[in-house]
Amino acid sequence: MKILAIGRNYVDHIKELNNEVPNEPVIFTKPDTALLQNNDPFYYPEFSSNIHYEVEIVLKINRMGKYIAEKHAGSYFDEIGIGIDFTARDLQDKAKKKGLPWTLAKGFNHSAPISKFAKKNEFKDIKDLDFSLEIDNELKQKGNTKLMIYDFEYIIAYISKYITLKKGDLIFTGTPKGVGAVKRGDMLEAFIGTKKMLKVEIK
Ligand code: MG
Repeated sequence: MKILAIGRNYVDHIKELNNEVPNEPVIFTKPDTALLQNNDPFYYPEFSSNIHYEVEIVLKINRMGKYIAEKHAGSYFDEIGIGIDFTARDLQDKAKKKGLPWTLAKGFNHSAPISKFAKKNEFKDIKDLDFSLEIDNELKQKGNTKLMIYDFEYIIAYISKYITLKKGDLIFTGTPKGVGAVKRGDMLEAFIGTKKMLKVEIK
């Protein structure tokens, strides 16, 4: 399986990092070794001193497809979850300045903690879905999927023009504002609506 992610999909987050609103989606990947599951802890890596959390809704692809039409894209995922797109912001800032890829800044080991997945029809409306992140019980990020620049169907259609999607692939769909640094001892908890889905302790 592979992990795909969209950067800059919520205007309020683009502004906080002083980035430009893109006229097409910014796509990057993480290797499968980035996954962190079962609420396992995250060990702060030695190569960064500025690891940021980015809470995001994650789609799980349920069948193979390429050149998927936007109007059919909804049938290519039936489960959603929540994840954290851990980013070594110091490495990313360095890469951005030089116009270099974000691979190491975004794809390092365990940079993609994910929750268990739930059927999308368990939610009232996945296009109007609140999600949030707390650290040590303090609200840090709060988003709603209706504020995405590019919605789930558009993202699937767009990516599948270039990269064939396969069953089990995951797509991180972007983070709202409020990103920030983690430190050892933090307890991150991610929610869809009021349901706690994911817990990550920073060690
Ligand atoms: Mg992100």
